[in-house]
Amino acid sequence: MRKTLFESLTHGPLTEPAPAPDEAALAELAQSVNRAALARLGRSLSIREVDAGSCNGCELEIHALNNAFYDLERFGLHFVASPRHADVLLVTGPVTKNMREALQRTYNATPDPKWVVAVGDCALDGGIFGGGYACVGGVREVIPVDLHIRGCPPSPTDLLKGLLVLVEQ
Ligand code: SF4
Repeated sequence: MRKTLFESLTHGPLTEPAPAPDEAALAELAQSVNRAALARLGRSLSIREVDAGSCNGCELEIHALNNAFYDLERFGLHFVASPRHADVLLVTGPVTKNMREALQRTYNATPDPKWVVAVGDCALDGGIFGGGYACVGGVREVIPVDLHIRGCPPSPTDLLKGLLVLVEQ
C-alpha cells in the first residue's frame, strides 16, 4: 500500500494528454451557424438532444458544445429541455426497442418546421449494435432524417459543420 502511494505521488498520470481544441475554428463555426439561423429563422437555433440508445460517447461530444470550456451558447446555440421549443432534434445511438415510441413522440411534439439530425455511425444503421435483439436500427427506421453526421463519435467541429450545412441548405 505504501509502495503504491509512493509511486502515485512520484509518477505522473499515464493517460495521454487530450488533443488541443481549435478554439478559433469552433467559435467561427458556431457564429456561422448562428448567422445562418438568424437569416433562415429570424432567431437563434434551439436544439433538443435525444439519446435513443447510444453508448453515451456521442453525448459526451454533444455536451462538449455547451460545457464551460467551449460554452457555445454565447454564440446563440441553445439546448432546450422540451421538444416543443426545438428547431432541431439531435438524435444519437441505434434506436432501441425501448426508445422507439419515445423518439416518435418527441418527433411529433416538435413543431414544424423542424430538422432531424442523426448523430454518429450507430444512428445511421445501428452501427456496432445493429442486429442486436434490443435494437430497431438507425434513426430513419423510426422518423424522417434530414442530415446524418458520421463518426464514432463525431467531434464538436463535425457537429457544428453538420448544423451549418443543415441550416444553410
Ligand atoms: S457512434 Fe460510437 S460513440 Fe456514438 S453511440 Fe455509436 S458506438 Fe457510441
